[in-house]
Amino acid sequence: MSAEITVTVNGHARTVPAGVRVREALDGAAGRDTIAARVNGKLIDLDRTLDADAVIEPVAADSPEGLDIIRHSTAHLMAQAVQSLFPGTQVTIGPTIEDGFFYDFAPPRPFTVDDLPKIEQKMRELAKADLKIERIEVPRAEAAETFARMGEKYKVEIIEGIPEERVSIYRQGDWMDLCRGPHVPSTRYIRAFKLTGVAGAYWRGDERNAMLSRIYGAAFATKEALEEHLKLIELARARDHRKLGRELGLFIFDPISPGLPFFLPKGAIIYNELIDYMRRLYRRYGFDEVITPQIYRNELWHASGHWDNFRDNMFLTVDQEGDGRIDSSADGWRHGYAVKPMNCPGHTFVYAAEKRSYRDLPLRIADFGRLHRAERSGALHGLTRVRTMAQDDAHIFCTPEQVSEEIDLNLKMVRDVYTALGFERLESKLATMPEKHLGTVELWRETEAALGRALDRNHLPWQENPGEGAFYGPKIEIYVPDALKRKWQLATIQLDYNMPERFDLTYTTSAGAEARPVMIHRAILGSLERFIGVLLEHTGGVLPFWLAPEQARVLSLSEKVEAYAAEIAATLKSLGFRAHADLRNEKLGFKVREAELAKVPYIIVVGEREAAAREISLRRLRGPRNETMALHVELSMQPASYRAWREPRNETMALDQLITLLKNEPVPS
Ligand SMILES: [Zn+2]
Ligand SMILES: [Zn+2]
Repeated sequence: MSAEITVTVNGHARTVPAGVRVREALDGAAGRDTIAARVNGKLIDLDRTLDADAVIEPVAADSPEGLDIIRHSTAHLMAQAVQSLFPGTQVTIGPTIEDGFFYDFAPPRPFTVDDLPKIEQKMRELAKADLKIERIEVPRAEAAETFARMGEKYKVEIIEGIPEERVSIYRQGDWMDLCRGPHVPSTRYIRAFKLTGVAGAYWRGDERNAMLSRIYGAAFATKEALEEHLKLIELARARDHRKLGRELGLFIFDPISPGLPFFLPKGAIIYNELIDYMRRLYRRYGFDEVITPQIYRNELWHASGHWDNFRDNMFLTVDQEGDGRIDSSADGWRHGYAVKPMNCPGHTFVYAAEKRSYRDLPLRIADFGRLHRAERSGALHGLTRVRTMAQDDAHIFCTPEQVSEEIDLNLKMVRDVYTALGFERLESKLATMPEKHLGTVELWRETEAALGRALDRNHLPWQENPGEGAFYGPKIEIYVPDALKRKWQLATIQLDYNMPERFDLTYTTSAGAEARPVMIHRAILGSLERFIGVLLEHTGGVLPFWLAPEQARVLSLSEKVEAYAAEIAATLKSLGFRAHADLRNEKLGFKVREAELAKVPYIIVVGEREAAAREISLRRLRGPRNETMALHVELSMQPASYRAWREPRNETMALDQLITLLKNEPVPS
């Protein structure tokens, strides 16, 4: 070991004595919020010593790596608190998860949510005590002995599975845990956490093992970030689409058909309005709609590759004229029928219905056909994970030369749709070759590269999603961040050279030769069910006017104005608006409140004065500029000003004026 080494921090190299601590090597280059460092690409503690030349980058508390270290350190802090409060509890593992962490314990009795405040309090005490977090390296056998002596049999099992000869232990105060690290320098760096729940979990996720008690927590670099996160969780709970669906009378689920929604009249309006919108776009973008069978002989699924790759997710059914069996074995494709989980194979028959020439291409066919997929019951979740769905599905058959133009066209459509629906930013991923796939590796790499170029050309930020492509081709996945900062994968565009091969699709080139078309699978809203679920959570149920199941409700102040109220509702209906009159003999406040809860955008109140002047009094559900409030505004507002914003103002206007307002409400074309 030389006595001096060169450290490079932020591009500046300097010479320091060997054995210097990372903290000193950083020498002021790091801010107060630096909690660890990346040394030659590896994350380590600030207290570690350097024996060789190193490139050092400080890791800030609020960077992705920094947050991970904070969350893991908070898991340690929680384990320390738990073991001091509940003697006899053994520790197991405590990994980080999105926004936080969990730790699995083997306690004398399972923890409940009632234990959490006490544990949190202890954690705060330990954090305040500013305990130094130290890393100690010991031979593996010694570590095993130490933990065995402490009665930590799970830790001993973990240590025995480690291949390295030396292991690291982290100590804070009188508590220690086996860990790779790194960690924050001392417990005082852990400032913003909240324990969020308890659950049972099997040791190593295996149901034959002992049941452990898991505690979940959230942790952030600052109190502000934690508070915003907790507020978002609270809003998400209030906006849960399953709850809104029930409250707004949009859809129900029933055990009679698990995972398959019943759309009620109001929900069906949203569903059909979305389809109508897509149809308007189809006319503009040159798509033709087709209607194709719901069930097909299994032969089709065998030819398409679904039988081998997707059979577990399909509802199989009996061929009444055949042998009457359902056979889900590899050979079962020789008889029976299955309900379609996808439209694609059926669409190859639409293509092959005529002899195609290059002049027919691109052929863009769209299908709102109902699909069924046998999702596991444990995976079902409201409208966002269902067993039946319809997609705004389309397949484009084109020449290889037309592919990039077609991808561009569809990416443009994606932008049109999401802009119209009020989703501001889009992100994307390029999902590449999965383990189970059709076609050669070379073809996959080529098509993956083509999709990557299309994303670049269309200025869509993207990342690779390795191994997540469909079995027949790579795909572009479009992620749509909602108002609660969650990202939903909605639109997809998939390139497929395999299906045309399997179904022997051809076209005649301009030179008169036979060639293979390329198939592009694409959906923009994705599943309509899932999209409606996302839209409800994004808007909290306050839908854009054109999607609102009830656009206007006329409330009568007294019996004397019933006729006038009914006349207004009838006029609005005759103009094509979805309007109703509430003529019940109830207090106005009650009727207004009901209309507000039903998220009716236009609440029209009429009394005798209005009736005499043929005017109306309008209360709008939305803000001063008739917009739904952006969530970041909602989050930053004080309760008082939020109420003021939400407080509907009554505007009095002539009936004609109201009609003009309604007619001017934007409807995407
Ligand atoms: Zn650790
Ligand atoms: Zn498809």
